[in-house]
Amino acid sequence: MTCHPFTLGDGTTGFVCSRGSGKKQPRRFCVVCLKDGRRTDASLLCDHPTPGGGTCDAGLCVVHTNRVRVGVDWCPAHEDLNQ
Ligand SMILES: [Zn+2]
Ligand SMILES: [Zn+2]
Repeated sequence: MTCHPFTLGDGTTGFVCSRGSGKKQPRRFCVVCLKDGRRTDASLLCDHPTPGGGTCDAGLCVVHTNRVRVGVDWCPAHEDLNQ
């Protein structure tokens, strides 16, 4: 899912996520499975913020995601960074 962080005037922050806009997304594979030579469709994307204001967007399958909270998934690299 594509998520964008936002900040409201009162300091409230959050993410607004869009899905299924009708635009065909490029096919992504789970980055962890790819390391093992397996091509597993990524049903999730890493939501960890990047310095440029975007998100990591590393592809993740349901087995390899690190779910931080509902709707927020981190790839293993970012999970390691935050431990
Ligand atoms: Zn995987
Ligand atoms: Zn990541």
